[in-house]
Amino acid sequence: MPVDADLTILGGGCAGLSLAAQLGLYQNRAPRTVVLEQRSSYQNDKTWCFWGDDSTPYARLADHQWRALHLINGQQRVLIDCDKIPYRMLKSSTFYDSVLADMAQNPKLSIQLEASVVKAPLFRQGVWHIETSQGTLTSRMVVDTRPLRSSSELQAVLWQSFYGHEIVTNTPCFDPACAELMDFSAPHSQHIGFTYTLPVSTTRALIEFTTFSAAPLTAPELQDALMQSIAEKVKGTPYQIVYSEYGLLPMGITQRGADAQPLDPSYIFSGLHASAGRPSTGYAFQRIQDWATRCASALAAGGLPKARAKDPYFLNHMDRIFLNVLRNNPHHGPALFTRLFSKAQSAQVIRFLSDKARFEDYLAIIRAMPTAPFVKHLFAGKALL
Ligand SMILES: Cc1cc2nc3c(=O)[nH]c(=O)nc-3n(C[C@H](O)[C@H](O)[C@H](O)COP(=O)(O)OP(=O)(O)OC[C@H]3O[C@@H](n4cnc5c(N)ncnc54)[C@H](O)[C@@H]3O)c2cc1C
Repeated sequence: MPVDADLTILGGGCAGLSLAAQLGLYQNRAPRTVVLEQRSSYQNDKTWCFWGDDSTPYARLADHQWRALHLINGQQRVLIDCDKIPYRMLKSSTFYDSVLADMAQNPKLSIQLEASVVKAPLFRQGVWHIETSQGTLTSRMVVDTRPLRSSSELQAVLWQSFYGHEIVTNTPCFDPACAELMDFSAPHSQHIGFTYTLPVSTTRALIEFTTFSAAPLTAPELQDALMQSIAEKVKGTPYQIVYSEYGLLPMGITQRGADAQPLDPSYIFSGLHASAGRPSTGYAFQRIQDWATRCASALAAGGLPKARAKDPYFLNHMDRIFLNVLRNNPHHGPALFTRLFSKAQSAQVIRFLSDKARFEDYLAIIRAMPTAPFVKHLFAGKALL
């Protein structure tokens, strides 16, 4: 039976476009691919940060990078040295523009904007029928990157909720050579709360207030703490808000809605709500690139799409214990992160957080953690993941 596409990617966000970009590298060996995206145009809507040397995907496209970061906890200021593996910031608009321009060069790849998938695709006689707001499309394979409609369809050990403004000040206020990964100065009793400051010039910075909590928080719920964080950073200097972003990231997904069971191996789920995020950080950008590279390689070899491989047992186990300790002892949060970055070498923590840990890095991280709460969780059988 003739089909409209070999592969249809539902959702053209980070995961969908990353896969399309990787497929583009295979030129005419790429399957005929259609990306279905509900939005009518791409705007800058997210700021992705990750650690990476020049060989890391999209590292060279980054809009800014820092070779030093700080963690601030009361009077303590910990330097995170990332001279060799800079912390990079990529605006989503830079990423979208680059991928869409590359896709336009490859006749095997196309994107339909304003094409909202309106029903769960149906599998009939070996072919997927995908109903969209623009009509029905048939495809041999499907990669579904659509987020779940609501966070209530997902259960996670913790939720990372953040709200941020990019501001421009009238006079110099920031050091663009050094970002602040976590500043725990702002008191936020019930949850772990910190300010994240990414200065891109002396007068411009993205400042976010982030919480890790058992239930998601909305942007209005974070607004007061964010404004307080900004006031502390600019110390009375007048400023304008030029961009805002809100995010809600599941940390340690324990259960996804019943729709997560594909009917056939030719249909896979991917993206943030299909466990792309690192449980202990919520970061997903690099993990999505890693998955996209492997999945594109399988498809270009004539195979089926590949779901993201499970995390190694040891990494999963450490993340699980860490999240459970944080969830049950939020007041220990600032001290735990401070110990992590001050007791282990920066390069080891960065490799651990970037999924590139070596055996000795795991040992260094374990040694950096206070023994009591971790041992308690190890033996108490309180694991939630
Ligand atoms: C504000 C923000 C900042 C973040 N910062 C970082 C960071 O610094 N580092 C990091 O590693 N991770 C970060 N993340 C986490 C993660 O990298 C992003 O959430 C990433 O965008 C996840 O990719 P995705 O493809 O799963 O989802 P998305 O990028 O959200 O893509 C999903 C796409 O599906 C489309 N869609 C939805 N429903 C339909 C439908 N019915 N039909 C057609 N299309 C549909 C959407 O329009 C969207 O384009 C951040 C997340 C947010 C929200």
